[in-house]
Amino acid sequence: MKTDILGVGINDLTLDEAIAAGSSLLEQEGFHYVVTPNPEFILSAKKDSAFRSVLNQADLALPDGIGVVYAAKILGRPLKGRAPGVDFAQGLLRRISHTGNSLYLLGAKPGVAEQAAENLRNAFPGLLICGTHDGYFKADEPIIEDIRAAKADVVFVCLGAPKQELWMAQNGPKTGAKLAVGLGGCLDVFAGNVQRAPEAWQKAGLEWLYRLIKEPSRIGRMSKLPLILVDAFGARLGGK
Ligand code: UDP
Repeated sequence: MKTDILGVGINDLTLDEAIAAGSSLLEQEGFHYVVTPNPEFILSAKKDSAFRSVLNQADLALPDGIGVVYAAKILGRPLKGRAPGVDFAQGLLRRISHTGNSLYLLGAKPGVAEQAAENLRNAFPGLLICGTHDGYFKADEPIIEDIRAAKADVVFVCLGAPKQELWMAQNGPKTGAKLAVGLGGCLDVFAGNVQRAPEAWQKAGLEWLYRLIKEPSRIGRMSKLPLILVDAFGARLGGK
């Protein structure tokens, strides 16, 4: 059961529950994919029906940003809390480093996925990374074939939204993988090129502010984010 947040279904799970749910998808037959909507996703899904339906068809949709949690509260459908994609990914990495499931890293600028792979292998002994590719490819087929040949069980798809969600929904089943997770800029974090906010900032729900201070060029993108709260108030007042 998902909670509807302005047209996008979100699973109301704690981070630990989300990691357990993601791991159990790996044990099921067939292909599954996970999305990590933040306020930017929800705002663009409002106008982009293809993106909205791919988000809503995901097997797991985790609330990535504090704005989603606030919007849910305003709507009168509170969520348990945030389950950031990067934390979900780390939990999953810990699990698969024990289970032996293989991982393919797709996305980011050339060289980033390789650096991320090296750092992750050091951080999670036993982790099996079976392939990497940057996210600036023209044709999908060679990438699908590479993932298939690498016999990947899990693919981290880090192409930015909505590209990564559309890519997973369309191509994921052809890769032979069991699970794909859309993780935006996570490879840049794992490669050490982008720093996450200190824990105190994360706990205070201010990760977005830290990011803005570090990357002021995101102001254009981020200035629209309070709109999700305005939309949530509007929907609540309108009785939706
Ligand atoms: N990216 C990519 N291919 C593209 C466009 C973007 O691999 O065609 C990568 C980009 O290099 C970055 C990630 O996708 O590593 C997305 O970053 P963004 O800042 O949009 O994601 P967020 O951090 O907001 O999740």
